[in-house]
Amino acid sequence: MRAMVLDKAKLPLQARDVPKPKPGRGQLLVRVSACAVCRTDLHVVDGELPNPKLPLILGHQIVGRVEEIGEPANFKSEISDVKFAVGDRVGIPWLGWTDGECVYCRSNRENLCDRARFTGYTIDGGYAEFTVADARFCFHLPEHYNDVDAAPLLCAGLIGYRSYRKTGNARCLGMYGFGNAAHLIAQIALYEGRDLFVFTRPGDVKTQQSAKALGAKWAGGSDEMPPEKLDAAIIFASVGPLVPAALHALAKGGIVVCGGIHMSDIPSFPYADLWEERVITSVANLTRRDGEEFFEIAPRVPVRTHTETFPLQEANVALDRFRAGKLKATAVLLINPS
Ligand SMILES: [Zn+2]
Ligand SMILES: [Zn+2]
Repeated sequence: MRAMVLDKAKLPLQARDVPKPKPGRGQLLVRVSACAVCRTDLHVVDGELPNPKLPLILGHQIVGRVEEIGEPANFKSEISDVKFAVGDRVGIPWLGWTDGECVYCRSNRENLCDRARFTGYTIDGGYAEFTVADARFCFHLPEHYNDVDAAPLLCAGLIGYRSYRKTGNARCLGMYGFGNAAHLIAQIALYEGRDLFVFTRPGDVKTQQSAKALGAKWAGGSDEMPPEKLDAAIIFASVGPLVPAALHALAKGGIVVCGGIHMSDIPSFPYADLWEERVITSVANLTRRDGEEFFEIAPRVPVRTHTETFPLQEANVALDRFRAGKLKATAVLLINPS
């Protein structure tokens, strides 16, 4: 099968013919239709995330169809009501495997599993014609979305949603960075009646205008203070100095949620900004529960995705444009268009 392969960090992906994978116990062989490009893919290529599988097929926002089903898994103590048949459409996310038995898995925190494996990072992903995935972690996708539009929901949507849920019932919600995930989650926040305050790079008037057009109550630079104190803020940009900036904009008891897997260092800040029960937390990965909730609410809003497609062999072009901030929408690789 054709695949785009990362041999080593900081090198371009190589277009290559590799053996088609075989589904093992509990796995699905999936014919990939579309795979969205995530900032995490860039972090892996750029060597900012430690110890990827090498050589590696990137990609963890995969939409495809079940081609073959491996032997039944017989996992004890697992929610195994998720059933797939050959030909079913399936979504494959970042969380690709957990042991089901560690202290985290046994307390509904499988996102923190000690032995978790991640699609397109520690196991091969979807920048290829086929992939295999553990059926326990695959999702049925809402019919509302075609394959291309569904792909960005699988990470930007899911992990963004987990960050959003950590903000509780915040009335005034800030978002630092307004890329793919923020754009998707803003739609849910507005649907649920939150007042939205969007922070962009100072001077990025275009993004500020698009946030206001979507329904944000206020949009400005990350160096500005919002007109009201925030009950919560989600940081989508991988920029550490935004953490004290967001903290400084919080009301008492407010929370800052760091939504990314990688962030530059956080500078020191006065304790007074944390005092009065303000909280800083991060979000790691996702649980299947997050996915089920998100795919239930997304078509009701309905959350709309904006995509820009590239053929599989142009994955490097998509990554380079992402890195340079030159994408117009979420990049989605088209692999076996259906
Ligand atoms: Zn575990
Ligand atoms: Zn991702």
